[in-house]
Amino acid sequence: MTQDGFRKVIMPARYIQGAGALREIGNYAKQFGFKPFVVSGKTAFSRVKSELLAGLKAARAPMVGHDDSVTECTYEKIDEIVRDAGRLDADLIIGCGGGKAVDTAKAAADKLGIPVVTVPTQCATNADQMADAVIFTEDHRFVEDYYLSRAPALVLVDTEIVGLAPVRFLVQGMGDALASGFEKPAYAASMKARKCDDLAAASALEVNLECFSVLMAHGIQAKKDAERGDITESLEAVIEAIKLMSGFGFGGGGCAAAHAIHNGLTSLPGVQRKHGEVVAYGTLVQMVLEDRPTGEIERVMRWCKELGLPIRLSELGDVDPDLLPIAAEKACNPKDTMSNMPFLVTPMSVLDAMREVERLAGVLA
Ligand SMILES: [Zn+2]
Repeated sequence: MTQDGFRKVIMPARYIQGAGALREIGNYAKQFGFKPFVVSGKTAFSRVKSELLAGLKAARAPMVGHDDSVTECTYEKIDEIVRDAGRLDADLIIGCGGGKAVDTAKAAADKLGIPVVTVPTQCATNADQMADAVIFTEDHRFVEDYYLSRAPALVLVDTEIVGLAPVRFLVQGMGDALASGFEKPAYAASMKARKCDDLAAASALEVNLECFSVLMAHGIQAKKDAERGDITESLEAVIEAIKLMSGFGFGGGGCAAAHAIHNGLTSLPGVQRKHGEVVAYGTLVQMVLEDRPTGEIERVMRWCKELGLPIRLSELGDVDPDLLPIAAEKACNPKDTMSNMPFLVTPMSVLDAMREVERLAGVLA
């Protein structure tokens, strides 16, 4: 019997989510190390500091040092943390904050060969659980994806912290997570058809599809609850969808057209929306490329509209329509994730799909 490839799943060893979870950090963290070094940005550190330090101390695993000056995930910053944490003989890194801080923490821990615990303070990203770090320059130019030898040992999501962060982060996180319900199936189909080495695991595919269902069922309610400062079942469900389900078993692959369209559009001047917001728009374009039924596209579009996610180009910022062919060309770069689509996508078909999204958005208005 021949085997076409390997079903690969990479995920955190532990995931803990709930209101007040941070108070338990010491008990969980000490399973991985007793000399933690904390990495974060300034705002995040001020939000978690008292409970984090008290929790670690109570578990007899007090913080041995910290760096709360992360503003960008750069190799310079990672090396600085490796030096400082190494000098203090830290045996565990705890990364607190948004994507940049946790990516920096993950990469530093990887270089040190010690485990990392991530404690997100907002919901715009699922970086907390991923086994890679996106490296930038100090002036926010993309350098490369740094792949870790393992995913975080623990992702600890205190819903009182992420659920009460500014609501725009939650919406951005939903926009990004929305894509997984479409990109992962496209990726899976493509890998299978091409007999690639990396096959999507059926479990990962199911969880990504379930992520989409949770977002549709609870997304709008979760936003309302977060606006009122209420940690409800809907909000908990959506936080889990963003933080765990969207990247479940990602294994270093799984993006497709939605992220490629994001990458194309954000190469243009004038796009003001954040990552998850542009990815949500890219998902609508992918749905058109896939020739999905109009009713299905309209349902997702209505959901996006109600959440305040962009459904037309003018909502992305000040985008010059004459530059769209450049974005479409870039989206179809063979090195980008458009190549994970199970059929050929050309710059022309991307432009046609964008026009169709525009038309559907007009009908919806
Ligand atoms: Zn994304």
